[in-house]
Amino acid sequence: MAKTLKVDVVTPEKIAFSGEVERVIAPGIEGSLGVLPGHAPLLTELGTGPVVLKRGGQVIELAVSEGFLEVMPQKVVILAETAERAEEIDVARAQVALERAQAELECARDRQQHAQALAAVRRAANRLHVVEDYRKRKPERAGRLPQVH
Ligand code: ATP
Repeated sequence: MAKTLKVDVVTPEKIAFSGEVERVIAPGIEGSLGVLPGHAPLLTELGTGPVVLKRGGQVIELAVSEGFLEVMPQKVVILAETAERAEEIDVARAQVALERAQAELECARDRQQHAQALAAVRRAANRLHVVEDYRKRKPERAGRLPQVH
């Protein structure tokens, strides 16, 4: 059996990642979902969370929000509303977005406003979480990124 699988992480704006990996971990709506080469075909919904790709001791992590994961015989496609690699995340922007969304959550007047604010909190918190993980893995590069509070 092949030792790697092709993975494409795609949004309406861009291809956030495309390449061969040994393992995919994605944020299923009922918990984290792992995919190895030879996995049975699958189509499932994704929530907002980290996508972790492992390849030869290397870890590539992306912050992904809402989408689908499809496992096909030859490849895995993650189609998401947004996806950023850890190195691309603007920390200051995510912090501002988190504070704004938390304030919106507190004064939400109906279910729709509440759901929108909660989704925005999750997107921003996920981006900050992915940056934190990246810093832990690559402390030598952490100096280049502003602190996450
Ligand atoms: P903001 O209020 O800062 O726009 P948001 O969660 O509402 O945050 P999204 O609607 O999820 O933003 O994303 C809009 C676009 O901006 C997408 O292309 C997404 O990849 C990008 N983006 C959002 N936040 C960041 C960030 N902190 N760093 C890098 N790219 C980001």
